[in-house]
Amino acid sequence: MSKIFIDPGHGGHDSGAVGKRSKEKDNVLKVGLNLKALLESYGHTVKLSRSTDVFIALSERAQMANRWGADYFVSLHNNSATSDASGFETFIYNGNVSSSTTKLQAAIHNAISKEIGIRDRGMKRESLAVLRESSMPAVLIEYAFISNTVDETILINQVEKLAQLTAKGIVAQAGIVKPTAPTPGATQKEEPKLYKPSASAILNSTATVLKRLEQKVDNPLDPQWREKLLKGELTESDAIGLLYVAIDRGHIVGKAE
Ligand SMILES: [Zn+2]
Repeated sequence: MSKIFIDPGHGGHDSGAVGKRSKEKDNVLKVGLNLKALLESYGHTVKLSRSTDVFIALSERAQMANRWGADYFVSLHNNSATSDASGFETFIYNGNVSSSTTKLQAAIHNAISKEIGIRDRGMKRESLAVLRESSMPAVLIEYAFISNTVDETILINQVEKLAQLTAKGIVAQAGIVKPTAPTPGATQKEEPKLYKPSASAILNSTATVLKRLEQKVDNPLDPQWREKLLKGELTESDAIGLLYVAIDRGHIVGKAE
């Protein structure tokens, strides 16, 4: 279990950057709240610098994490520049940092840059107060440009996805304590049901039929299906699909009346 400090930037009278349709302080708070739930579901302890719309000074954010004894510090921001600037970037302190700091940056950066769908502006280093004054590995994320129409849509509409990608990056470094815990916000995927014949005779007949289909001269069946069956890895929906393949190829013909 790791103690992870999540810092949604700005708040209160400090809106951060302001876009046409949203404010940085609101966008990053939503991601932060989602991220907290996700990391907790992975078995970590999470503290937020703020969970409401309040102002906290930069140094105080770092001190909160230091006092708590956080293992990791992750600060969430939206970028801003001219309307044509776009993309994703991350920062660590530009002074001496531990190898865990560069690893954490790489883990978070790679998880997000691959999936966010905008330009990767790179892993950067700068002397930002929260990074400089926090005593644990610290990364600051600039998800996208609130000043760019396309980027702002991501910041507004893809809050859960941004939280999931960030969580994925953090646990790539911090690990997962409860791998089976449900992921709040994530789509629950049902495990496919395996095709388990109740008697060995049925299993053998199924295997024999599949083997015959593999030996057909035209359109032979891929042997992987019989291998899956014998390994107990064939799903029920595959089994039904195979039946239709056999019918479609004319291998199963009903008796004429
Ligand atoms: Zn900011």
